[in-house]
Amino acid sequence: MQQREEHLSREMARLLRELEQSSSAWGDLLFATLQQWQLWAVAAVLVLLFGLCWWLWKSSHQPKSGSEEESSTRNTELKEEESEEEDSDEERDLFRIFGNHLLWSVQSLSHKSQVVEDLVDDLLAVLQENLATSFFPVLHPAIGVGSTFEGWSPREYDAVYRLLVPLKPPHGHTFHLELGTARQTPEKNSRIRVELECTCMRDQLVENRLCFLHHPQEELRRNPAASLLGTLCTGSYLDAVKTAQWFQNLVRSAWREEPPSRLYSMKLLPSSRSCKLQLTNDSGRNLFIEMVFGVQQGDSDIFLSSHTTEDTIPSTMWAESYAVAEVKFFRHIATQAPHDTFHLKCLQLYAGILVDTGISSYILKTVAMHLLNTIPLANWSRTEFLMRLEDILQYLHSCLEDKRLDHFFFGNENIPEDIILPPDFQTAEPINLLQHLVEDQAAHARAVCEFNEIQDELVRLLFHGW
Ligand SMILES: [Zn+2]
Repeated sequence: MQQREEHLSREMARLLRELEQSSSAWGDLLFATLQQWQLWAVAAVLVLLFGLCWWLWKSSHQPKSGSEEESSTRNTELKEEESEEEDSDEERDLFRIFGNHLLWSVQSLSHKSQVVEDLVDDLLAVLQENLATSFFPVLHPAIGVGSTFEGWSPREYDAVYRLLVPLKPPHGHTFHLELGTARQTPEKNSRIRVELECTCMRDQLVENRLCFLHHPQEELRRNPAASLLGTLCTGSYLDAVKTAQWFQNLVRSAWREEPPSRLYSMKLLPSSRSCKLQLTNDSGRNLFIEMVFGVQQGDSDIFLSSHTTEDTIPSTMWAESYAVAEVKFFRHIATQAPHDTFHLKCLQLYAGILVDTGISSYILKTVAMHLLNTIPLANWSRTEFLMRLEDILQYLHSCLEDKRLDHFFFGNENIPEDIILPPDFQTAEPINLLQHLVEDQAAHARAVCEFNEIQDELVRLLFHGW
């Protein structure tokens, strides 16, 4: 009891110090918002401030027995979360405010992502071995993408771990990327033309192998399933649906013969353009993994991906994917940022609130990437957490007002150097991710309404916690 009391008063003193340090910055922020914002925005800032004060008060006035009990319950819960590492003090503070919205710690998330990555590596190793002498696409090591691998996925129980499996052309084949022409939408649809190439010179050295281009009939007679064009293509184009089906069959038989993990039972979930696995362990916990297929554009971090947001596009259409460049951006931030940087917590919190709204998490992520690129990383610390939450909200609000949010990777001169983009990306006109709001007034009205709901939800969380 005494220890707990001492801990609480130490904590209180620390928080008050931090509040003092940040109060002048808050003054500036209030002044700026008064000049630029409507009254309601100022009210929101005040509410955030009030929320912080209320939280400080609550932390210091909690009955000791109650807080003992609460912390022991929470400890049990945390153990149940299979968290491999102790959560930091900062995360425990945030649990007090935001409860379930932040229950999934960043450490636990990164541990799970590693488990998935290892498992998929093992699975692909088995498949690669089985495919060694075939003429199917060559599978390269999978790259974890999306919110789980970027570290801000909001909820554990329905999280999907998505990985992109790069495909390279097999022996005697080449891939030609036919990129969609107008870049009105970021996911412009493109195609992958498969061509045979002459390997006469190379194949003289390999026994029992003939050039497809010059001895196609003989080669096909020996091995009817030998040509990629005859199996996974429609016309001369790589077919995303056939590729997904082929890969699913490979996974099914590999798991039957040589499962990469004996800890999980595996079920293939229906998916026409990817491979979705539901893994269940002995205690009934599920792990959802989705593997999508990608063909790299040159040596860049941009791929043509089998995964699309539309269901009805032709099976030979592939979508331009920025997912690998995005996960590299988050890794870049992690290496540059001070240890106590809270940008992932900001994103995780909003992603949790957004779940039931029409504002997509991709819009949120793009807003956050723009802000991470402009606000110095030292200002994303725990002490400035509330201000950064407010920044994200303000940025999103001005985007909705202007009906304009630029895609992060087009026409942006401030991309970190370790992210490789095709040369025309930098000179390209920025793409407006909110173009649909310009064209559809009703959608715009809905988005504004949903923005207000997000704001209300944040205020509710600050007042009432979970
Ligand atoms: Zn030849």
